[in-house]
Amino acid sequence: MLQLTAIEAGYRDLIVLRGIDLEVRAGEIVALIGANGAGKTTLAKTIAGLLPVRRGEIRLAGNPIERLPPWARIRLGMAHAPEGRQVVAGLTVADNLRLGAYALRRQRGESWTSGRIAAVCELFLPLRERLGETAGNLSGGQQQMLAIARALMTEPKLLVLDEPSLGLAPALVADIFRLVDRLRAAGIAILLSEQNAQMTLAIADRAYVIEMGRIALQGSGRELLGHPDVAKRYLGVGAAAASLRHGDAEGRHSRLVRGLADILEND
Ligand code: ATP
Repeated sequence: MLQLTAIEAGYRDLIVLRGIDLEVRAGEIVALIGANGAGKTTLAKTIAGLLPVRRGEIRLAGNPIERLPPWARIRLGMAHAPEGRQVVAGLTVADNLRLGAYALRRQRGESWTSGRIAAVCELFLPLRERLGETAGNLSGGQQQMLAIARALMTEPKLLVLDEPSLGLAPALVADIFRLVDRLRAAGIAILLSEQNAQMTLAIADRAYVIEMGRIALQGSGRELLGHPDVAKRYLGVGAAAASLRHGDAEGRHSRLVRGLADILEND
């Protein structure tokens, strides 16, 4: 679905991404974890076309897209829910959703847009009750749902989700992960950038760790949960405990997945 080869990108004279190779296959949740400033948001923006690629190649379903503007990438099936939500506070929920469909609206028409609003509201019931409300009046969790719903307006095959749990209370974080799981079940491939490494690795099919603009580690969610460096740096587990626990990776992953499954089943 998405293939990045040797991607370099950054801001003016600052090179942030230094040769990123990454792949998201159909039906997968792929996690991107890393500390503050590692380059996750820069990578999400580069994939979405908000930052130019300096070197390297991006393919979406086999098509080279690294020179295409954001709207053209949307038309090819990509959507991006940016860090910090960036909903338009002064517009209603419905108008924010209409904005999400902007790249396709002229092609598809107003009745298609209304149909999409109804369809995404099936996934986000609290939004359906608030379509006429000003987005700025929504809670943080509802604004995050709106940001994801807006990205889904164009029926993407690939969703790039940048730190959706940022600043949310634990119960709302669980809601967001539950939703991501449902989107995968609906056939949407997801690149999930997160600082919440524990839950992200538990839900992810595969994951990449980004450090200083480079991929430092990659593997299945299970492998990385059990990796001592990941445990030490991203899961808050001490080095000695991490290496001891390495042997118990299987058990730890099963416990996390069971915990997550409980959350998902209680939906
Ligand atoms: P966070 O979790 O804090 O968002 P991140 O992994 O997403 O971290 P980025 O936001 O991609 O990291 O930042 C990577 C580097 O790029 C940092 O050194 C940051 O200071 C720099 N940077 C980010 N945005 C800009 C910008 N608009 N102009 C210049 N430098 C930037």
